[in-house]
Amino acid sequence: MRYEGTVYRPPSEANSLLIQATIGCPHNKCTFCPLYKGTQFKLRSVEDIKEDLATAKNYYGDFIDSIFLPDGNTIIMKTDQLVEIFEYAHSLFPNLKRITVYGSARYVNKKKDADIKRLKQAGLTRLHMGMESGDDIVLERIQKGTTAKELIEAGIKLRQADIDVSEYYLVGIGGLERTKEHAINSAKVLNAIKPDFIRLRTFVPALGTPLYDDYKVGKFELLSPHTALREIRLLVENLTCENATVLSDHVSNYWNVKGIIPQDKEAMLNHIDKAFDIDESRFRQIDASRL
Ligand code: SF4
Repeated sequence: MRYEGTVYRPPSEANSLLIQATIGCPHNKCTFCPLYKGTQFKLRSVEDIKEDLATAKNYYGDFIDSIFLPDGNTIIMKTDQLVEIFEYAHSLFPNLKRITVYGSARYVNKKKDADIKRLKQAGLTRLHMGMESGDDIVLERIQKGTTAKELIEAGIKLRQADIDVSEYYLVGIGGLERTKEHAINSAKVLNAIKPDFIRLRTFVPALGTPLYDDYKVGKFELLSPHTALREIRLLVENLTCENATVLSDHVSNYWNVKGIIPQDKEAMLNHIDKAFDIDESRFRQIDASRL
């Protein structure tokens, strides 16, 4: 397998075979995101991707049961190309159960419903979607390139094709100023989509991004551990999407909030409340001297 640049994958894909289908991100404008800065976006050829899959077959045999295809927004590839890749992967790996990719709402929405259904039939099982926020003002400020309405449209489109939706919520990305609107409006979007997973990440400014510069000059106020947890509490309180699993499967988070909506909601809220008894100095600290 050949890899270019740093390859990122969700923690939940730790056991998946990683085959790069795209290099970089076609959007690459989110003000908080350092992942592909300086990387010129390109699609890899289907031929190269299939060669890498064949190499993996030689190496791992029938062992592979899950494949994740980085980099950012692989869903942007033409449906015919994705179908060819997915079908080839299934022809190589008889035990393959999962094929997953990253995909933002704006690229999902460029596909027709029939294309999404074809992708499902060819083996696409899950999309990892970085919604970050469901608040239009926050989405515009971070230049996500999408709106709450488009997030809902994309999520529903995938759910209707029976493709798992894994949404990523970025705690604190609205700053202190919009923490409430960020939580409440994100819950509204998630309730409309009814995703399978809601994965929490807590915003930490990354060197080389516009939001880092705003933070450094005092234009963006970070949430403290308790305010970040109050934001998560507000989000969970407002979630009504049945069978959505909430997870804190990332090192950036202050507290492990985990459960299924609605049956675990009260337990999750009670567990969050325990965190407020702990002094903020005892949570993970951002080392300002290293920023
Ligand atoms: S957050 Fe996702 S869509 Fe935005 S620039 Fe980073 S990889 Fe691209």
